[in-house]
Amino acid sequence: MMEFAGKTALVTGAAGGIGAAVVRALRAQGARVAVADRDTAGIEAEAHLDGNLLDAGYADGLAAAAARALGRLDIVVNNAGVITRGTVTETGDDDWDLSVGVNVQAPFRISRAAIPIMAGQGGGAIINVASCWGLRPGPGHAVYCMTKAAIASLTQCMGMDHAHQGIRINAVAPNEVNTPMLRTGFARRGFDPDTAVAELGRTVPLGRIAEPEDIADVILFLASDAARYMVGAVVEVNGGKPVK
Ligand code: NAD
Repeated sequence: MMEFAGKTALVTGAAGGIGAAVVRALRAQGARVAVADRDTAGIEAEAHLDGNLLDAGYADGLAAAAARALGRLDIVVNNAGVITRGTVTETGDDDWDLSVGVNVQAPFRISRAAIPIMAGQGGGAIINVASCWGLRPGPGHAVYCMTKAAIASLTQCMGMDHAHQGIRINAVAPNEVNTPMLRTGFARRGFDPDTAVAELGRTVPLGRIAEPEDIADVILFLASDAARYMVGAVVEVNGGKPVK
């Protein structure tokens, strides 16, 4: 069921923690993968599509570029994301533009371009990476939480609207994951990332925060035929620790 031989995929944020794990897992199961990030040098993949997702032309063209490079496009993983801290009164226009641009507008642009390509091939799967904070927000990250709620909602809308074309659109909503995003956040605030990750793990019923592979496996499930009846779902992957 988790076999991807003959399938092709585009993964954004492929140089980051979760993205790299998704690329490794898809390729290990036989998929051919186009990786997208600002710098994908050194990532093993079948196509490298470097660029800045804030560049509308780049985001609009990614799906077609992946389809051209790989011959078809079966799977898109809209994984790239940025986190900005702060309440609304602490959020400048630059942070707003960055968060909305990467977390919402880029997946919108990529999906808008991918859907007709997939429809022309008879179907496909799109998986968006939301967050538990998009379902129940946490304090001090107002715009990040809003963008993750927006991508969760867009997933539900696109899921409904494009299922009839054979395209299944779903999302994962992780809680804390041991990636550069989380670790650099700790380091910026003066905490030792290893200690902070271990302490955070003790707050999770499963006893540890997620590793990127824990999230990648659920993304692969949603991309696979095993999830053939799942549409518009936002799947929480949280080790038993939902955000209150
Ligand atoms: P990460 O920082 O390791 O990776 C994010 C990747 O996105 C990076 O490689 C970065 O270069 C890329 N990216 C960011 N802005 C870009 C731009 N303008 N153009 C091109 N690429 C860009 O983070 P991660 O933890 O692997 O996050 C992946 C996804 O998971 C994100 O959407 C994030 O919001 C979500 N998420 C993460 C956590 C967590 O605790 N780490 C929790 C919930 C959700």
